[in-house]
Amino acid sequence: MVLKKIKDELGPSLYFTERQTRRSKSTASPSKLQTVDKTDDSKDRFELECKQMLSITPPSSEHHDVMKSKRRRIQIKTESDSKDLAATVKIKKQRVSRITSKETLPTQPPPHFWPMYNEIKKMRSRIKAPVDEMGCANVATTVSGLSEGKVYRFQCLVSLMLSSQTKDEVNFQVMKKLQDYFISKGYKQGLSLEAILDIDELVLDQLIYKVGFHRRKATYIKQTANILHEKYNGEIPRTIEEITSFPGVGPKMGFLLLQIAWNINTGIGVDTHMQRMAKIFKWIPASKNMDPEYVRRCFESMLADHREEWSRINPILVGFGQVVCLPQRPRCDVCTLSRTGICPAVDKALLKKTDTDKKNGIKINSKSRGDLSNLIKDIEDLH
Ligand code: SF4
Repeated sequence: MVLKKIKDELGPSLYFTERQTRRSKSTASPSKLQTVDKTDDSKDRFELECKQMLSITPPSSEHHDVMKSKRRRIQIKTESDSKDLAATVKIKKQRVSRITSKETLPTQPPPHFWPMYNEIKKMRSRIKAPVDEMGCANVATTVSGLSEGKVYRFQCLVSLMLSSQTKDEVNFQVMKKLQDYFISKGYKQGLSLEAILDIDELVLDQLIYKVGFHRRKATYIKQTANILHEKYNGEIPRTIEEITSFPGVGPKMGFLLLQIAWNINTGIGVDTHMQRMAKIFKWIPASKNMDPEYVRRCFESMLADHREEWSRINPILVGFGQVVCLPQRPRCDVCTLSRTGICPAVDKALLKKTDTDKKNGIKINSKSRGDLSNLIKDIEDLH
């Protein structure tokens, strides 16, 4: 970079000469120089030969001044550049510290949080959602019958790595496929560290092609398996720093893995449903950057005195988001919060339509990714 600046400032010829000088100095053999030094008219010949080798003429005093001024100009530019860079770094640091700063995070949830959350909990006990059987916390048990041990923990990690940008139903199918494939290949426990270490990355990619970003995930899973084998004796580490050092593993996966693999509750795993609901329910302060990390820090701060909720809140809200409070067209018609006046995101037009349908004898739509039958019954009894 600096050399390029010098080249731009001083022109290609001088730049070339300097490069030549350096190369010539480094390639000139000491024996040759000594030989030259030993001849009779050694001084003159030595000077002449050096000039030929270096291809430069001694700088005139005028040239020297120009060089000085050019150097000065370059120095000024470099200082200014570094100031700009320092300023940029400072701004980035400020942004990070503003987000991570405790002052900006709510220490208590808003007044409508607990009434809403408790009602959602009640609804969750009445519905079945894909996450209940096929979510990352349960898929290893559903697929392989394991609920503890090294292989179980490794399967939890793989299911989490496969789960991003992928529906639980698809993730379940792929995990089942992996389990069946490895069993058929003679691995007694199916999907295990040894099986992943042995499998070719391309074959793994073909096996998991149904999940989003399968190519990258196949690479990450192979790389992670190697790290676990070489650094952790094949075991899942117990700190978030170590887990998030694996390729493709972020805080959401890390905190969930610690909870389901080791029962360690050091953070909240925030997924896309939780992020969306925290925003539309106005549970967390509005911010320019409402990313999952900000939402996680807000939840952790608001629920600092309710740490028992840290591991519960994810499956409760995820399941609710999968079958009731959908990202598109939320099912306010079956939601017991819809007529309480405490949900800031209720679809009032849908409630009007539901009332009209009821008058006309049209039943509530029971189509769902999960099982809404109990909740629909509750709602019909309510009205
Ligand atoms: S938006 Fe509708 S479905 Fe979601 S919580 Fe509010 S009332 Fe229930």
